Amino acid sequence: MSDVVIAGAGPAGLTAAYELAKLGKTSTILEADQQVGGISRTVNYQGYRFDIGGHRFFSKIQLVNDLWDEMLNEEFLMRPRMSRIHYRGRFFDYPLKAGNALLGLGPIETVRIGCSYAKYKLWPTQPENTFEQWVCNRFGRRLFEIFFKTYTEKVWGIPCGEISADWAAQRIKNLSLTEALRNAILGDGKSKDGQVITTLIDKFKYPRLGPGMMWENCEQSLNSRGNPTLRGIRIEKFRHRNGRVESALGRNVQGEQIEYDGDDFLSTMPLRELIHSFDPLPPAEVIRAADGLRYRDFLTVVLIVKRADLFPDNWIYIHSSDVKMGRIQNYKNWSPEMVPDPTRSSLGLEYFLWDTDDLWNWDDQRLIELGRQECVKLGLIEPDEVEDGTVVRMKKAYPIYDQAYPEHLATVRRYLDTFKNLQTIGRNGQHRYNNQDHSMLTGVYAARNITGQEYDIWAVNVEKDYHEEERKPSDRMVPGRVETDEPSLPTPEQLIQAALAKLDPVALGVASGVVCGLGIFIVSAILLLRGGEEVGPTLSLLGHYLIGYKVSWPGALIGLVESAILGYILGYGCAWLSNFFTKAYAFAAKWRAEASQTRDLLERLR
Ligand SMILES: Cc1cc2nc3c(=O)[nH]c(=O)nc-3n(C[C@H](O)[C@H](O)[C@H](O)COP(=O)(O)OP(=O)(O)OC[C@H]3O[C@@H](n4cnc5c(N)ncnc54)[C@H](O)[C@@H]3O)c2cc1C
Repeated sequence: MSDVVIAGAGPAGLTAAYELAKLGKTSTILEADQQVGGISRTVNYQGYRFDIGGHRFFSKIQLVNDLWDEMLNEEFLMRPRMSRIHYRGRFFDYPLKAGNALLGLGPIETVRIGCSYAKYKLWPTQPENTFEQWVCNRFGRRLFEIFFKTYTEKVWGIPCGEISADWAAQRIKNLSLTEALRNAILGDGKSKDGQVITTLIDKFKYPRLGPGMMWENCEQSLNSRGNPTLRGIRIEKFRHRNGRVESALGRNVQGEQIEYDGDDFLSTMPLRELIHSFDPLPPAEVIRAADGLRYRDFLTVVLIVKRADLFPDNWIYIHSSDVKMGRIQNYKNWSPEMVPDPTRSSLGLEYFLWDTDDLWNWDDQRLIELGRQECVKLGLIEPDEVEDGTVVRMKKAYPIYDQAYPEHLATVRRYLDTFKNLQTIGRNGQHRYNNQDHSMLTGVYAARNITGQEYDIWAVNVEKDYHEEERKPSDRMVPGRVETDEPSLPTPEQLIQAALAKLDPVALGVASGVVCGLGIFIVSAILLLRGGEEVGPTLSLLGHYLIGYKVSWPGALIGLVESAILGYILGYGCAWLSNFFTKAYAFAAKWRAEASQTRDLLERLR
């Protein structure tokens, strides 16, 4: 019997076992599939390797970066990134570049985009509750419709107006706007605490043979230390009593049931499935809540094409609604070693579906034919260039953030909290849009909790900023706390106010009026007191500008009043102009910062 039984050999489960081994605990992983890596696996078909959607390796969490290096040694490549949008038969650079986008769309569309942008800048929708509102407020409705709506709806399968604000908040909203803004204003390329910000939009880390290589290495290393991964065993039940799980009941491919005892249990299973596996079953309201959690399924058609080079991109977003696919991966551009024959290329066509959709249940040959036809239609290949193909279906690839999920999840969590020796980790184990790094971090925390530490697993991946920035150094891991944005960072508006203080026109007017008025009076008085044959011939030239001014005592009084008035007007005007330009500059800085933060919006949808 192992100390810990783990459901699922994806990144979360394998990392938990890896950390447990370091902490001197034994574990057994039960994996329903015949392959490890979960959604982050690499499938090998006739020597052609491909991911379930290309997996970039990027993390702001130093601990995870160290783990990756430890697990993969020298096997990481640093790859250049290129991605474009295919829309109405044309390619557009992505992240969007103004010149390229406007040239491709033509003058009439450009004017429509400009008008719609101006409208939303002047009258933004408030409050911003949905993804649709968020994008329209920043890009205008027309750009939203062209570049975001179709793809997002292909991925999520629900209208953009129904994607919850929660998702937008976690994934896109606010990001690290403050720091981008600070950078736009100060232009020093550093964050508040002096760390260097490097944008990683243009390159990414990738294992030589795909992400599965890491997880296969991890499994081997665990096995060699007596912590087995048992493939082909699906957990059907968790038997429990008095708030403790006592055993996991698995079924192997031969249909036999096997019981696994342990002191502690970790689950990366989808929460909906987990809740149904409890024996005895939870209360009806918990089951109802679990049944309310939804998932989007993912299918990839891989085509092996008889051409050495197809296109330069790693992936292309397909916005055109006349084809069903949502994205195409070109695996040779992720790593040349993903393709065994240099005269061939392999494409991964991604279809985002519900498992109840017709397409999901088509046989593989029909799907390969659909993929071939769609690629020909998009002009990416010739009709006779496809040599072979295969299909991989991945159920529950995306936990859905619809309007109802927060309540359902809260009910499920309340029930799970009643167990003393069960923790749920990873993407579907938390019903959270976790990438590999977050999934792994939950595994590390859960392992440490088993040895008596107190990490809050549910605090992982709740930070507002995401993905594209790297700070060094950044391992700030302490129990109960995860790496997040500094909570005390000022808002963008506060930052602008602090950096570019406003002038008070009345105060500056009064100050300038007093200085000018008194200045004229005092100089006139000095000349009058000095006396002489001709008093102040040069100063009297001011009479051309100040009506009735002479170098005399009454003239000095007239000069005082008139120059005080002129001084007031001048001071007031300067302050007003300064405020106007400051505001324009702040607006431009905020716009630039927002634009830099939203550059890779589609990739956040994934
Ligand atoms: C299209 C796509 C692209 C992505 N791109 C990236 C990327 O570029 N970079 C990145 O870092 N992340 C990416 N991700 C996210 C990444 O795939 C996940 O974060 C990660 O795989 C989650 O790990 P996990 O262990 O929590 O879950 P999973 O990978 O889902 O693993 C769970 C495992 O549990 C097993 N299991 C389930 N039920 C049972 C049961 N009853 N009994 C036994 N075993 C069971 C499953 O078979 C599976 O192997 C992407 C995800 C998708 C869908």
